[in-house]
Amino acid sequence: MHDVEIELSTTRRSEARRREIVERPVFGQDFTDHMITMPYVDGAWGPLRLEPFGPLALSPATLALHYGQAIFEALKAYRSPEGEPVIFRPDRNAARMAASAQRMAMPTLPEGVFETSCAMLAEADRDWIPSEHGAALYLRPFMFASEAHLSVRPAQQYLFVLIACPVASYFGHDVAAITVAVERREVRAAPGGTGAAKFAGNYAAGFAAHGRAGAAGLDQVLWLDAVEHRWIEELNAMNVMFVWRRGQRTELSTPPLSGTILDGVTRSSLLELARRSAGQIDDVLERPTSIEQVLEGVRSGELLEAFACGTAAVVAPIGTLVDGEHHVVIGDGGPGPVTMQLRRAMLDVQHARAAGPDGWVVPVSEMLARASIEPSRLRDR
Ligand SMILES: *Cc1c(COP(=O)(O)O)cnc(C)c1O
Repeated sequence: MHDVEIELSTTRRSEARRREIVERPVFGQDFTDHMITMPYVDGAWGPLRLEPFGPLALSPATLALHYGQAIFEALKAYRSPEGEPVIFRPDRNAARMAASAQRMAMPTLPEGVFETSCAMLAEADRDWIPSEHGAALYLRPFMFASEAHLSVRPAQQYLFVLIACPVASYFGHDVAAITVAVERREVRAAPGGTGAAKFAGNYAAGFAAHGRAGAAGLDQVLWLDAVEHRWIEELNAMNVMFVWRRGQRTELSTPPLSGTILDGVTRSSLLELARRSAGQIDDVLERPTSIEQVLEGVRSGELLEAFACGTAAVVAPIGTLVDGEHHVVIGDGGPGPVTMQLRRAMLDVQHARAAGPDGWVVPVSEMLARASIEPSRLRDR
């Protein structure tokens, strides 16, 4: 078992302040009382440490600030109907963080430590997990090159950190369709590049297009492939799916994982739920789809619905595509029925209100037991 150190906060927010934040959280603004850190020095990982949330002391020569070795993850802890903290598919995020690390020439975490860190923080700050349907404790694990040096090479020191913040349901009470700008000029990821890694630089590279879309009153950007500028890839931080009518059949399709698309846990979970007939879908396909096929599908009526999916929003209906001067309305421009059924099915599984496939929803208590950590050590009494 990896070395664990626990230092509980002596300066926690008051219960009144915590309640105020948990009941009306602003995404990514207010963090819980603790965080986790684990340093990598001289070829080995140091202790996994739960400690009070606070600033990191960094040299101006910190390598990540110069050459960008920085990766992250995102997953959520929920409350089960019995009030117990559970985490959705943490093994998938652990595997993806390892893949991102390898792509960026960074070390991978010791086996099981990613899951243990999530469980420790969720348990220590369990009072911060909202119980409202759709709300959750958002977990943000990340890792960066912490070595103070300016050589252009992979760093020899890293820091793994985990922080958490409560989040409300992305849409509040009414799910609204988003508008999405088709980006015809810039690209997010090229074959052989970094698109499949949850790598900080990917997001910075998309911000200019995102800013232009925002200035035009649009919500998101839809990226096309880097070679032909016609094959649909994904949004800035969400995968994309389409619902088609093919004769009498209903089909769900999403672009295949080609190395330029992020392998979303929400994406793969929705595909699995759809194959198990959530949303009454007949065919589930991972298939290349061009922007022309989508525009033609809207004209012919074969394309019924489109939506984006990712941990933060879960499922976000796409109502309108904006392609240069053209505004293309999908369906009636509002959330489609298949989209909403899939969204409900997914949320019910995530909140442990409906049984999902084995091992998807993991109780925090089970994860701590696996790591031989007594939960009382993480509690303040
Ligand atoms: C994180 C992310 C997604 C969604 O992945 P989930 O695991 O479902 O949250 C999709 N695309 C990009 C580019 C992302 O960074």
